[in-house]
Amino acid sequence: MATQKMLKFVTLGKEMPEKRDPSARAQDFHEIYREYADQKAAEQAGRCSQCGVPYCQSHCPLHNNIPDWLKLTAEGRLQEAYEISQATNTFPEICGRICPQDRLCEGNCVIEQSGHGTVTIGAVEKYITDTAWEEGWVKPIRPHAERPESVGIIGAGPGGLAAADVLRRQGVQVTVYDRYDRAGGLLTYGIPGFKLEKPVVMQRIDQLAQGGVQFVANCNVGDDITFDAIRGQHDAVLIATGVYKSRDIEAPGVGARGVVKALDYLTASNRHGFGDDVPEYDSGELNALGKRVVVIGGGDTAMDCVRTAIRQGALSVKCLYRRDRANMPGSQREVQNAEEEGVEFVWLSAPKGFTGGIEVDGVMVQKMRLGAPDATGRQTPEIIEGADYVEPADLVIQALGFEPEALPTLWGVPELKVTRWGTIKADFRTHETSLPGVYAAGDIVRGASLVVWAIRDGREAADAILGYLNQTGAVAAE
Ligand code: FAD
Ligand code: SF4
Ligand code: SF4
Repeated sequence: MATQKMLKFVTLGKEMPEKRDPSARAQDFHEIYREYADQKAAEQAGRCSQCGVPYCQSHCPLHNNIPDWLKLTAEGRLQEAYEISQATNTFPEICGRICPQDRLCEGNCVIEQSGHGTVTIGAVEKYITDTAWEEGWVKPIRPHAERPESVGIIGAGPGGLAAADVLRRQGVQVTVYDRYDRAGGLLTYGIPGFKLEKPVVMQRIDQLAQGGVQFVANCNVGDDITFDAIRGQHDAVLIATGVYKSRDIEAPGVGARGVVKALDYLTASNRHGFGDDVPEYDSGELNALGKRVVVIGGGDTAMDCVRTAIRQGALSVKCLYRRDRANMPGSQREVQNAEEEGVEFVWLSAPKGFTGGIEVDGVMVQKMRLGAPDATGRQTPEIIEGADYVEPADLVIQALGFEPEALPTLWGVPELKVTRWGTIKADFRTHETSLPGVYAAGDIVRGASLVVWAIRDGREAADAILGYLNQTGAVAAE
């Protein structure tokens, strides 16, 4: 009986796909988890208790129908599992790899809450869609009928691409503009290959291109083409440009050679991985080989930098963070991966300045302690006087987060309303901005967030754009 395949959590423990040995994975940029064997995926999916009220689903930003695709996987009905999974998620194999599941679906699984270890939802989601690609079940988009309306999407990250997919399926003519030479946004140039191998992203972009989505690469809106020109060429526009202005440290010596920004560093590494000519990498400016590396920050970008430096052959890699392990924003799973690979975390430490003059040779470190909680309840770091020291460093990577660029100024559209943080003001359901027919999605609205939220925004914005096109088309036809 089919149900006998479920509820196995009582007798079967949680088992993630095999993790590669740290010494081997530190030598390359391949993903660190292997694929589940078919039998293992079915068994692990069968641990689900098929909750009547599935908290996993309500805590997934896409409200994926997790219990159903777990049950189908346990029964070996993988093509049906794939159909259900892709109905709510544009890029399930990407989310399965890089969603912080411990904070979303898996962190809220009732089996996890009852101490049995979560159902490995992300790994099963990845397994289902990787299988779908291998079996040829993922097909280019073929709309039932073409529509005359066109939509311009600025930004080819997950938000823009998710919207492109929904609109193209309805036959809308879609053009995606991006300032980079490759599409994918941070999936391509931010997130390292050991979390998300690049062919996984490129195959999705090829699928969209084969389905009729037009990509205009190397096109910086506001520079190569005006925003008004894009509005003039399309019936509606979606802004999905992400957030790219890095928060810099304000301390003496920050301008020294060898003090670099996280995204410059990660982009150079990813470009090198693509086989591009990267002079800053070859010259050593953005390459950790043989260096004592200090990364400043405690978020996921910092984790990606430390683990990239290990793979580039750094002499040593230290991560400075001003709070402690329990209070860092980055995922604990990533900290553990980094420690296994040889990264040293220096908690309760903040940079006071940089030594060495023209070329950095050290970070002046201030020791901190956690004081009284602030308005948000988070303990404020306080300086411990007289405990400063110098941490030797040849490469210092600043990973303190990102802010939006000033789009209304850069694009000469003061009517485009932004919040006091500079993110675009958009309706939280329709994603329409202060300009009629102009929508916004992803990090440029939320501030630095997650891929899964960008996908959700992109899909919702596309639905709203379809409604707008139907309405304006009807008005035009009257
Ligand atoms: P982006 O992915 O930033 O894409 C925006 C695109 O717009 C870019 O391609 C850019 O070139 C283009 N663009 C910008 N301005 C213009 C312009 N003027 N003209 C033309 N094109 C323009 N999230 C996770 O869920 N899991 C993770 O593990 C994870 N790791 C991360 C690691 C790093 C290092 C970073 C920086 C972020 C990470 N994130 C992660 C966050 C995630 O990548 C973002 O939340 C997500 O990519 C946002 O999607 P988006 O489409 O809004 O923007
Ligand atoms: Fe979990 Fe992310 Fe998949 Fe949702 S999309 S089920 S949060 S891994
Ligand atoms: Fe299955 Fe856990 Fe979701 Fe319940 S919460 S349906 S056990 S995955």
